[in-house]
Amino acid sequence: MSCDFLSRACPGVQRLTPYVPGKPIEELERELGIRNIVKLASNENPLGPGTAVLRAVERVLPELSRYPDGNGFRLKQALSDHLGVTSDTITLGNGSNDVLDLVARAFLGPGDEAVFSEFAFAVYPIATQACGATGVVTPARDYGHDLDAMARAIGPRTKVVFIANPNNPTGTAFGRGQWESFIRQVPESVLVVLDEAYIEYTGAEMDDPLNGLNYLADYPNLLVTRTFSKAYGLAALRVGYSLSHPQVADLLNRVRQPFNVDSVALAAAQAALGDQDYLQRSRALNHQGMEQYVAGFRRLGLDYIPSAGNFVTVHFANDAGPVYQQLLEQGVIVRPLANYGLPRSLRISIGLPQENQRCLEALEQCLSS
Ligand SMILES: *Cc1c(COP(=O)(O)O)cnc(C)c1O
Repeated sequence: MSCDFLSRACPGVQRLTPYVPGKPIEELERELGIRNIVKLASNENPLGPGTAVLRAVERVLPELSRYPDGNGFRLKQALSDHLGVTSDTITLGNGSNDVLDLVARAFLGPGDEAVFSEFAFAVYPIATQACGATGVVTPARDYGHDLDAMARAIGPRTKVVFIANPNNPTGTAFGRGQWESFIRQVPESVLVVLDEAYIEYTGAEMDDPLNGLNYLADYPNLLVTRTFSKAYGLAALRVGYSLSHPQVADLLNRVRQPFNVDSVALAAAQAALGDQDYLQRSRALNHQGMEQYVAGFRRLGLDYIPSAGNFVTVHFANDAGPVYQQLLEQGVIVRPLANYGLPRSLRISIGLPQENQRCLEALEQCLSS
């Protein structure tokens, strides 16, 4: 090729490495020619979609030739009733990932800084860099966000702070005490993005569980993101949202694709929100699965990071790459974390009890070989 497009790309994009998703089941089937694969690599809901969602999806199918409601009126209405917020605070996204990108596009450019933690969700550096802004990474404390260090890292160029609570891939979470002393220190002009993708799983084990929504009224610079991909079981449909000051929502709306959430996703999310029984079952199953892993890790002598999400990160004595490979060969897909700077760790999503059992048995096999 006579033209070098790498040198033509935006400077931030030139230095980007793409997000690495969990290995799809079909891909492993093709590669190894095996069946009965267990995927515990993407924090997906092992229950599958609920019946209310499936019915809602069927009802939309005859309308597929029409554009979706670009304003997502009915889903916003349902969310506003469910959460007790006004519709003008809601921004819908093609997954909450989309909303994170909208924030970056609306607020970050060359010369700007975004603060996030070591081991934080990989989308924050990607969204920041793609806009030509600079990521300022604070060292983690016990694998979690060091909120004091993050507050100190805020400078005159800081436009956005990205925080995941609980964090993926570490599963660490902080409560109200730490949060309140952090948010009080942040200048009003800095947008704080509190990513609560796993909030539905947290609470039981914490004495001061944090719900970001309770701070929106006092902190107009706060934006909370949530998703239907995890506890609500709609990862394939890509639907998430943020809650923020209406002026921030208006700015995100300016850079949003006109039809960023499709009709099937809108209808499914509304049905999922109405099916709180499914949510309870997700929670209960996750709790049970977490206990199963913790007991299994103890038995196998494996160290792990206590997790508030639907996944758990486990440590090995050496490079976890070979363990990852051996698990694949046994039909179990988990997530390697070398690209997060955790080469000796693997992240395992909580599955159905029998899937968790398969994973623990495969791990035992790896450790004995
Ligand atoms: C999974 C995840 C998301 C978003 O997922 P979407 O499917 O795009 O809604 C956001 N933040 C964190 C920390 C996640 O783990």
